[in-house]
Amino acid sequence: MAERPISGGAYWNPQAHMPTAGKRRLVITRGQGVWVETSTGDRLIDATSSLWHANIGHGRERLARAAYDQMVRLETYHTFGRTVNEPALLLADWLAANAPMAGAKVMLTSGGSDSVDLACKLARRHWQLEGKPGKKLILSRHNAYHGLHAFGTSVAGLTYNREGYGTETLVPETARIATNDLDEVRRSVLELGPDNIAAIIAEPVIGTGGVIAPADGYLEGLQALCREHDILFIADEVITGFGRTGHMFASQRWDIEPDMVTMAKGITSGYAPLGGVLVAPRVSDRFFAGPDAPIFRHGLTYSGHATACAVALANLDVIAEESLVAEAGRLEVVLARMVKPLRDSDLVVDVRASAGFMAGVQLRAEVDADPIIDSCAASGVLIRTIHDNTLQICPPFVSTDEDVAQIVDAIDGALASYDGPR
Ligand code: PLP
Repeated sequence: MAERPISGGAYWNPQAHMPTAGKRRLVITRGQGVWVETSTGDRLIDATSSLWHANIGHGRERLARAAYDQMVRLETYHTFGRTVNEPALLLADWLAANAPMAGAKVMLTSGGSDSVDLACKLARRHWQLEGKPGKKLILSRHNAYHGLHAFGTSVAGLTYNREGYGTETLVPETARIATNDLDEVRRSVLELGPDNIAAIIAEPVIGTGGVIAPADGYLEGLQALCREHDILFIADEVITGFGRTGHMFASQRWDIEPDMVTMAKGITSGYAPLGGVLVAPRVSDRFFAGPDAPIFRHGLTYSGHATACAVALANLDVIAEESLVAEAGRLEVVLARMVKPLRDSDLVVDVRASAGFMAGVQLRAEVDADPIIDSCAASGVLIRTIHDNTLQICPPFVSTDEDVAQIVDAIDGALASYDGPR
């Protein structure tokens, strides 16, 4: 890149209160393994894997080479209609072979919100084709985060992500269900009427909503309820997919077979923007069979982007060769053991660490998280808050036990030295 002076005043950060975020701006310039470096020369452990995605760690030359090799051969070619490229075909084969459901078909997207949009549209299209035109509602859980495209915004369980657009939801046909209470969910389904419900979308482990594990039997029960009432079940595995819960997909850990699985983030570990949706035969079959097969009128210029797919394949090779899924499973236990004692702090309401190599340390509502985050940075740990004043811990799978200990020690020290809001 040519040397250019940086002003940066034009950059509008997503999800940011710009007057304050602008003043506290942190420019990340480099990354290696679990480490990132800032423009002021600080070296910090990436306790959140960036935005839950840097699973194989930063700075892998092999992924850069995969991108380079693909770009000099063919940067990409679109996949609308009959054309396609080899990396997209190879990636789809890999995904179908490793999917939690048999016979899956794969549509590729540019990221998680795209995948959610696609899955919700396809659910509605499915019921129109089934001759059940009333089935339009998409149900989502309180606390859910499904990205911020129009469908993701509409099914947001975090109300502040849904509000302010003039109507309760951008897409009107949505409703919320209980986060972890199956009896409540059943009541909602019966009240809303199964004949009006197209799909339920759920993160196996809620991420941005505070790192909330599924209650015992919740996901299995949700699937059974969906089957009983002819409702499609969409598992949003944008965070949990590709190893975070010690299984390739969290659906495999809880032994569920969703009708659709949305994916992104860990598919490339962030080395290229890419997402996708796995679609079970129940939904996909009719689009593949016979001269009268309908067309699913959906797609993006970069659906199946060749370079992004080549990067994904290299990422999946790294995960396999370094046994990183099993390693994430091992690290889940290490993290849970180390982080739980933080519950003893008066500033902490809850520590959630029971499903996957991820944890949430929820601070009391009146605690100002900024000094805690700054104190963690001073101890060499980059962390952030998510919903409900919760510190997000979700390190790369290449973390050592010592890295995990450093993250927990930094939070412990920050809590001990906290002397009130700024
Ligand atoms: N779904 C879940 C569960 C997510 O956590 C996210 C992002 O954090 C999304 C969807 C949206 O993904 P993206 O930000 O890539 O659009």
